[in-house]
Amino acid sequence: MTIPTTTTTMALRDSIAPFLRFFDGPIWARNARPGVSNFAVGNPQEMPLAGYVEALRSHLEPQGADWFAYKLSEPRSQVAVARGLTARTGLDWDPADVAMTNGGFAALAVAFRAILEPGDEVVFLSPPWFFYELLILAAGGVPVRVPLQPPAFDLDLEAFATSITPRTRAVLLNSPHNPSGRVYPSSDLRALASVLGTAASRTGREIYLVSDEPYNRILFDGRTFHSPAEVYPNTITTYSYGKTLLAPGMRIGYLTVAPTMPDRTSLRERVMVAQLAGGFLFPNALLQHAIEDLEKLSIDIAALERRRDRFVPALRALGYETTMPEGTFYVMARSPIDDDEAFGDMLAEEDVLVLPGTVVEVPGWFRISLTASDAMVERSLAGFERARGRATRDEGRPSNGTVRRRA
Ligand code: PLP
Repeated sequence: MTIPTTTTTMALRDSIAPFLRFFDGPIWARNARPGVSNFAVGNPQEMPLAGYVEALRSHLEPQGADWFAYKLSEPRSQVAVARGLTARTGLDWDPADVAMTNGGFAALAVAFRAILEPGDEVVFLSPPWFFYELLILAAGGVPVRVPLQPPAFDLDLEAFATSITPRTRAVLLNSPHNPSGRVYPSSDLRALASVLGTAASRTGREIYLVSDEPYNRILFDGRTFHSPAEVYPNTITTYSYGKTLLAPGMRIGYLTVAPTMPDRTSLRERVMVAQLAGGFLFPNALLQHAIEDLEKLSIDIAALERRRDRFVPALRALGYETTMPEGTFYVMARSPIDDDEAFGDMLAEEDVLVLPGTVVEVPGWFRISLTASDAMVERSLAGFERARGRATRDEGRPSNGTVRRRA
């Protein structure tokens, strides 16, 4: 018997080496310092939503002996999610097709485990979320990247078409996209659906579209979100409440399939097995009891948009090239020097923490999370100015400049 090597822990480790290096490195080491402006990850920097705390409190009091019993996907959770999806997409969602998971992270793990056979390929966008490759490999799949080019990060449909082979089992789309902030329009979704349909008839194999949508309610400039499920029946949607509620440590999300998917009932058992095989990937009882309230709640998106509208022009005025996100928490900015990790260190010396683009496969850029407070935005600007000034001055020096490179 041959033992697969791609799923061993050390092989999996390689797929997240830049992530591990970042959280073990000098930038993150400053995270806990007072006065630091932390833009590195999408974590809350202010007190949680009052309505969120209230929702949890009101469902904490047991209403029966089984209140905290083992919970799979609670029927009431499934109904609440299906109702929300039906209202947002116009498709008639079946509660039985909703699998409650402990976050979008788990929903992706379940999706891949449910649909992949060893060696099946999954095509995904680069820059990706940190853990796509890890989860694909852990499910025995083969990761295949389709690059997006900064600063526009437009979908390259030609590249999608050529990346599909007879081994392709799924295409993973993330829109609104982390880290670019792009929200791909309906015309792109329709074009992608047509590429996948043509490819599936060429290869004779169904291709799933896994639509990873944790930011689908974090949209700016009056945009509305369109799910690929509206145009591609073989869509599996994964969602996390961690973004809209800005409570990512409270693990709840779901996986679901489009009501138009042929043979959708046959997936249900595989999804259940994948949830159990992953080590009980269901949300806890309290979060499921509260789900009807959580469905109605959101952080203040208008405040997030105002922060974007203050921060992006301010950075541009300092000479930074940046994206203007259409959704999500994230702004990408070009590092003034090629070595984005070295520039991240320089910003950290100013108590400004960002995520170097190398960690998310966009070398030469860095990512800023708008989940920082307004006060952090204001006090960071002087640091952004000084670091840029130092970096551009140092870059001009012929030798032994002070721009450090990582070993
Ligand atoms: N997908 C994307 C694109 C993300 O950015 C994240 C979290 O950052 C996830 C999935 C997972 O979300 P969660 O950790 O809330 O489950």
